[in-house]
Amino acid sequence: MAKRKAATKALTNKSCRQISDLVFDYLNEKLTPATKRDFEQHLSICPDCVSFLNTYKKTVAVTSSVKVEQLPPKVRENILAFLRKRIRRIGAFLIFLATYLAA
Ligand SMILES: [Zn+2]
Repeated sequence: MAKRKAATKALTNKSCRQISDLVFDYLNEKLTPATKRDFEQHLSICPDCVSFLNTYKKTVAVTSSVKVEQLPPKVRENILAFLRKRIRRIGAFLIFLATYLAA
């Protein structure tokens, strides 16, 4: 068991913080094959980063398809509430988005 755990750890040598920094490049196909493999391996063992990635995709879809003024207030509130809750964990990108949506 201990051996297996060590192997898993070696496969996922990226932290959640590093993953959040790579999401943008991942979605834009800018990662090197090795980094992409690390990224996907991390996702396979980390539900937090999977849900972050999904939220990121949804947020990008919403913010790039409509102007901020056109967002229903409820949607905007939900996104802002989500961002404020998670900012501590996921860093610069979400701070940027929150600032953008709150403007
Ligand atoms: Zn993670």
